[in-house]
Amino acid sequence: MRKIYIIISAYNEQENIPLLTEQLQQNFENISFKNYELVFVNDGSKDQTLSVLMEIQKSNPRVIIINQSKNFGHEIAMTAGLNYVVQQNKAIDSDYAVVFMDADLQHPPAIVAEMVQLWEKGNKLILTQRTDNEDKGLRYSILGNTYYWILNFLSDVKIPRNMPDFRLLDKKYVLWINSLNETDRMFRGMLSLVGLQDAHIIPFAAPKRNAGKSKYNFLELYKLAIDSVIQFSIKPLRVATFIGILGCLFSILFLFYSIYISWVHHEPRTGFLTLLSVMIFFCSLIIFFLGIIGEYIGRIHIEVKNRPLYFNEVLKNEKE
Ligand code: UDP
Ligand code: MG
Repeated sequence: MRKIYIIISAYNEQENIPLLTEQLQQNFENISFKNYELVFVNDGSKDQTLSVLMEIQKSNPRVIIINQSKNFGHEIAMTAGLNYVVQQNKAIDSDYAVVFMDADLQHPPAIVAEMVQLWEKGNKLILTQRTDNEDKGLRYSILGNTYYWILNFLSDVKIPRNMPDFRLLDKKYVLWINSLNETDRMFRGMLSLVGLQDAHIIPFAAPKRNAGKSKYNFLELYKLAIDSVIQFSIKPLRVATFIGILGCLFSILFLFYSIYISWVHHEPRTGFLTLLSVMIFFCSLIIFFLGIIGEYIGRIHIEVKNRPLYFNEVLKNEKE
């Protein structure tokens, strides 16, 4: 029997979960497809998220709780949900799809119902695109535009703009994504790796988050930016080599010019300040590119350890 798993990652979302569950249920009442499961990943919340979930689970056997042992971050939470679904279906050759969504009601439950209907009609990959974001923050400003421009310039995989982590993946895509076993995970990049050609895109206006506050700050975004470039491309290393070669050529030309001036024209070479600024410039360039190389080596270090991505336990409604 075909089944839909809705994976909802939640970190400090105690106020939002009851409302979200209710709205999802209402939306499933309007459509014919009924075989669904709500897989909540509690990502080490510090508020009452877990007890709220356990309370809801008592009366709702569709609710599965994956309780992470601590906060591992949104991408890892989604991975934990995905692994759970793959594990559940390992022995049986059933057909299923996964919907990823946030717990803060920025991803409208009505669209989940729309996705399910599209899936029933045969769509295998359904993505969403924000047409407008009331929660205009750093990510949607001029800085945001520059951010995506640089990202897409430096990275080998194209990371589409305004595509939130709100999507439906059919079994085929679930298994593809699940076969990527990198430690450092970024779903948007991984999806681009797999290929987005067959995607159906649903545009939607994202509302403000219902309660609580966003967990992304400047540092998080910085990390995401570095990750999305370095994880999916070695272009920055190539840029470094290219600038190095350019610098060499320039300094050779400069050397010849200096020799020419002092030997042919007998002018003494002065210009201490010029020398100093050129030196500072090239030293900073070297440090910058050492940093880039460091980022890659750091990642190799993390990948070779091959540690488990997370630790968790799955809580089910025992009545079932
Ligand atoms: N989230 C998570 N772990 C984290 C941070 C966030 O599971 O460490 C969840 C969060 O509860 C929400 C979703 O990821 O459901 C998106 O987070 P948030 O709303 O803070 O991001 P924004 O919408 O501002 O991009
Ligand atoms: Mg949000």
